Amino acid sequence: MSNGNYTNGKTRTCGVIGNPVEHTMSPAIHNGLATMFEHNLVYVPFHVEADLDKAVEGAYALNILGMNVTVPYKSDVMASLKEVDKLAAQIGAVNTLVRMEGGYKGYNTDMPGLYRAMKEDGVELENADVLILGAGGVARAVAVLAADKKAEKIRVLNRTIEKAEAIVEEVKEHYPKADIQAMAISDYEKLEGESWVAIQATSVGMYPKTEDVVISEEGFYKKVRVGYDLIFNPYETKFMKLLKAAGKEAYNGLKMLLYQGIIAYELWNECEVTKEQAAVIYEEMKKQMSA
Ligand code: NAP
Repeated sequence: MSNGNYTNGKTRTCGVIGNPVEHTMSPAIHNGLATMFEHNLVYVPFHVEADLDKAVEGAYALNILGMNVTVPYKSDVMASLKEVDKLAAQIGAVNTLVRMEGGYKGYNTDMPGLYRAMKEDGVELENADVLILGAGGVARAVAVLAADKKAEKIRVLNRTIEKAEAIVEEVKEHYPKADIQAMAISDYEKLEGESWVAIQATSVGMYPKTEDVVISEEGFYKKVRVGYDLIFNPYETKFMKLLKAAGKEAYNGLKMLLYQGIIAYELWNECEVTKEQAAVIYEEMKKQMSA
């Protein structure tokens, strides 16, 4: 979907900065919403090779309303901002810049995006036993989200256990009451019970290595109640296939991507996107993926 509005002197600009940005789906989300709301707004990708600080300063000088920030700048961009929202500071990553007097305020809409996607799927984090596979930037953010939503137990499983331990220490600093522990992936058998909400936050299984999966043993999937793979390409990952084969519910990361965009759009335009409107954009994203 493209923005049906013609541009004129009053057109506002938003965009995404990153490297690379050529495969981004964000223009489909934001230009789709602009068309839907009849907002005079265009959203464009900005490939930023270096000089991140100058890019942010330049965006402000050009009266750009808001920016998304993607790989590899989500942490580094914080140094160029006027203010950083509390949750984004705890997560240590900003993916949305909102224009304010004298500069931009940074937010993290990835995690509220995942939360809204999960809510829509009827999956609660509150009082849940949450296991996170991976200990990269996204896994760290999921661990903060789970602690913030008062999950009953949080287990961070990673190939390199030291990285999982570092996440646990960081989360405990902000949420001292959280029941959070680090584990090696190979120790998954020690997970108690069969009601884990599993969030797959490694890059294993992403296109083109679609047959890869971080854990292939059936025994692991028996312990899971519902699983999310934050990967969305392919639409159904091997992790999701193994969950389904064990009779469990499985979701991919496309709705998280949708809602991180929607929350950013709502912040920029002070509007509210309904579930029905979100569903139209989601269909558009699916079409774009299969194009
Ligand atoms: P990252 O910082 O590079 O972390 C990668 C993680 O994957 C690490 O925990 C790493 O383990 C693990 N890993 C990589 N190869 C592995 C292997 N062969 N075996 C076991 N573990 C392996 O990545 P990230 O930025 O956190 O992103 C993680 C995933 O989230 C990506 O796949 C991305 O597609 C997805 N994502 C989705 C959305 C969305 O909107 N849906 C948004 C952002 C990211 P080690 O620590 O041992 O190396």
